[in-house]
Amino acid sequence: MNLIFLGPPGAGKGTIAKMVKERLGIAHISTGDLFRQQIKDQTPLGKQVESILASGGLVDDEITNEMVRARLKEPDVKNGFILDGYPRTIAQANKLDNFSRIDTVFNFIIDEEEVIRRVSGRRVCQSTGRIYHIEFNPPKVEGVDDETGERLVQREDDKEDTIRNRLEVYRQQTYPLIDYYEKRGILRNLEIETGSEKAADIIAGMFNRFEEA
Ligand code: ADP
Repeated sequence: MNLIFLGPPGAGKGTIAKMVKERLGIAHISTGDLFRQQIKDQTPLGKQVESILASGGLVDDEITNEMVRARLKEPDVKNGFILDGYPRTIAQANKLDNFSRIDTVFNFIIDEEEVIRRVSGRRVCQSTGRIYHIEFNPPKVEGVDDETGERLVQREDDKEDTIRNRLEVYRQQTYPLIDYYEKRGILRNLEIETGSEKAADIIAGMFNRFEEA
């Protein structure tokens, strides 16, 4: 099954996608993670997008579409995928229609103050991509990754000013996608206050049922 996770930054898309990936055996494709990897490796693409990510703005549609189109050709995608953070504009959604077929779009609903609380407390391990929260999901030992012992960092774009900018970008550019997929009849709203595990159960449960039927 081919899924899209739609929702504002900090809604928990990445955390829940990692859980659903394990349960359904499908690929998790986060465009934010792909860009961050390019930046870490200092590739030409990485150098091109570095300042855009730091500011919280969006990378050019064509660059992003091309990166996703290539990623969807990789072998781990054969059983399906979760697109996390893509599409983020109507132009990207139109393009995606040309190279893939989407079954369900999950729209993560969360209030903005909660987003700011979550994102500003978020810490990540750069090598494993594991995500923590200083208050809601702290590592066993403060400031370091549970497995690798590496020092956790705050993403540059998780600082409060940048989060506010990302929320504004979300409202203007990404929010219209709710209507776009609603009209197609493939949108499912998901209130995620229930917690990440529960949300992952709901999503994975929907598809397990389909498979049994
Ligand atoms: P978030 O926590 O906002 O979901 P992501 O990790 O998905 O953040 O993305 C981080 C940044 O990467 C975005 O602020 C943007 O600059 C860039 N980015 C990610 N996905 C896209 C996309 N589909 N189109 C354009 N830019 C993107």
